[in-house]
Amino acid sequence: MHAEFPDFRLGNVLATSFTGTLSERHGNAVERIPTPHRLIDWLAANGLAVTSCTTAQLELARELRESIHAAATATAIQDALPASALQVINDCSVQGLASAVLTPEGKRRWLLGSASCVEDALSVIAADAISIVAGERDGKLALCASPTCLAAFFDTSQSRTRRWCDMNTCGNRQKKARFNANQRKNPRSAE
Ligand SMILES: [Zn+2]
Repeated sequence: MHAEFPDFRLGNVLATSFTGTLSERHGNAVERIPTPHRLIDWLAANGLAVTSCTTAQLELARELRESIHAAATATAIQDALPASALQVINDCSVQGLASAVLTPEGKRRWLLGSASCVEDALSVIAADAISIVAGERDGKLALCASPTCLAAFFDTSQSRTRRWCDMNTCGNRQKKARFNANQRKNPRSAE
C-alpha cells in the first residue's frame, strides 16, 4: 500500500479504468498515477505488469489517457472524434507488442512483448479503448452526472441508465449533496 498516493479505482473496463486514474477533471483534479512507480503499480493491478517505467513513458501514458478520455467523451455526446486523440490512440496501439493467451482456467491473460516495455502495456489499453469507442462491446459510453467529474464511463447496465462513473464516490457524493441541500433548504449554502 502507498498511503501517500490516492487509491486506484478499479473497474471492469480497462480503458475507462485507465481514464479514471485522473478523477474530478472539472473540480479539484486527483492524479492517481503521479509517479512512474504508480503507473507500474496500476499496470500490475490490471494484469499488465512491467518492470520499469521512465518519466517519458509516464508522460506518454498520460497522453494516451487524455486521448482516450477525449475520444470516449466525443462518443458519449455523439460528437466527431478529435483527430489528435485518434492519432495518439492509434499510434499507441500500433507501437506496442502484446499477445492474448488463454490460461488453463479459461481466462485471458496478456503477454507483453517485453517486460520492461510500458509501450506494450499501453497498446493493450489503446486496443481496449478502440473496441469500446467502435461500439464492438455490449455497453454504451456515457458521461458521469457529477458536474465536477464528467468522466466517460462504459455503461453495461441492462437499462443503460447508469448515471455515475463510480457509485462509491460520485454516486454517493451526489446523494449526500442532495441530502444536505434538502436539510438546509438552500442548495447554495452547501459546501
Ligand atoms: Zn464521476
